[in-house]
Amino acid sequence: MICKKDHRHEQMFLQIPKSQGGEGRHRCAGCAYEAGLAAGRERKEKVDLDLDSLPESQAGTVRHKSPHAAWALGYLNGVRESYEG
Ligand SMILES: [Zn+2]
Repeated sequence: MICKKDHRHEQMFLQIPKSQGGEGRHRCAGCAYEAGLAAGRERKEKVDLDLDSLPESQAGTVRHKSPHAAWALGYLNGVRESYEG
């Protein structure tokens, strides 16, 4: 499955490192970010990145970006949002 979403976090992903993983799976960093964001908003303490459930990335700025880093960035922003509410 290839991600068809139009992720609008392009600028944010510039700070994300490239994935150096050689496992041949390129999960969508945009979807990973959104999954992390949702977990962060709930301030989940038992987290599961569950990257295998994410769609694969398409071309664009999120391509080949580390889904681990994107998830963590999303989590951080989600926690921030939860304090602003
Ligand atoms: Zn995506």
